[in-house]
Amino acid sequence: MEVTTILGGLKTAIDIAKALKDSSKSLKDAEIKMKLVELMDALANAKQSVATLKDDLLNKDQEIQKLKGLLEFKEQITFNGLVYVDKQDSSVLYCPKCYGESGQGNRLMIVDEALLRCPVCDFRCWLPGEQPGRKVIHPGI
Ligand SMILES: [Zn+2]
Repeated sequence: MEVTTILGGLKTAIDIAKALKDSSKSLKDAEIKMKLVELMDALANAKQSVATLKDDLLNKDQEIQKLKGLLEFKEQITFNGLVYVDKQDSSVLYCPKCYGESGQGNRLMIVDEALLRCPVCDFRCWLPGEQPGRKVIHPGI
């Protein structure tokens, strides 16, 4: 819902109210009632438009917060060639597949002492030295 639609609805309501005020003596009761119905309809439409606008703004606020979180996370990590590593704590590793697809930082879990696994997408890779021929994924481990 655009603001111009809301403003247009409010202008209609104001115009009807002005018409009622300016010509209330010359209008018959039935005409006054009809104008009041038009006025109430215009105000109800404007109210609905404002409610829709409020929802749109709330959705945009939520999207901004989500994007801020993704940006903060992006600044918090670095890529080591295979997985993402937390700059503050190099033992914290994040799934490159999930980050690449959605920007989400899902931590890799150590399974079977040598295998890292993403609990969300099931991405797997070996700890360094545990699987010959694999890239060293994190020298600190
Ligand atoms: Zn993943």
